[in-house]
Amino acid sequence: MFRCPLRPHPRLKQPAFRCISMAWYCSGSTNSELIQNLFRADLVKNERVTKAMLGVDRAHYAPSRPYSDSPQPIGHGATISAPHMHGHACEYLVDFLNPGSRVLDIGSGSGYLTHVLANLVTNPLSNEASDGLVIGVDHIPELVDLAHRNMCKSNEGRRLIDSGKVKFIVADGRLGWKEGAPYDAIHVGAAAEKLHSVLVEQLRAPGRMFIPVDDEFDQSALSLGLGAGQYIWVVDKKEDGSIHKEKVFQVSYVPLTDPPAK
Ligand code: SAH
Repeated sequence: MFRCPLRPHPRLKQPAFRCISMAWYCSGSTNSELIQNLFRADLVKNERVTKAMLGVDRAHYAPSRPYSDSPQPIGHGATISAPHMHGHACEYLVDFLNPGSRVLDIGSGSGYLTHVLANLVTNPLSNEASDGLVIGVDHIPELVDLAHRNMCKSNEGRRLIDSGKVKFIVADGRLGWKEGAPYDAIHVGAAAEKLHSVLVEQLRAPGRMFIPVDDEFDQSALSLGLGAGQYIWVVDKKEDGSIHKEKVFQVSYVPLTDPPAK
């Protein structure tokens, strides 16, 4: 078994090494083997999340090594995140991902997670306008086209696009997408410099956001040799509108940036 030399970060609820040590160990030779290995390793625990991930073949989104539990390049300097990170994101958001929920996926990249999120909030047999909606936002037009094409590789994905239950939009995700707000859940797939208040404003009450945020002044991370800290924050907007923020574990994401110059 692969053992990671890092020790758990003392201040974190989940050990900092968890995501790193499980990479590759959970890989599979098929999509279902990969998801089953994530489930066995306790990285994906929720049955609805497991089913939603089983319903999306990663080969349509990460063609080079689709069933490896590691990030893969998708062009334009972007990567599709590792499967265990997609699993973590869904696990943290799942209570807010119900049939009919509205979701914003910022930094949608390959479109893989957008598709998994859609499986959690839509009913494939329903044509009701009240069915769920997932909006994927990326600031690179070529990646928005790629996500669209990737989803259309499966009949289920194509139906989600054709029915308007999944939309991909070119925009600066740091501003969210106010036309679709309020959202029951917001997922951010690239590291923000700060907890952008405009994103919190676009959450429904109740609603939840999963967002990696840079924490350059985190001395404890530096002293562990982990570099400047970057952490997942789970931000809850409660029913009464009050905000609860929690830093849950350390990660390494590409940054949310200005679009590359043409
Ligand atoms: N969830 C995606 C992650 C892709 S990597 C996946 O697993 O496939 C992060 C993505 O964030 C890239 O596609 C990048 O183009 C996008 N991104 C970076 N800065 C952005 C910004 N300001 N607005 C929107 N998207 C951004």
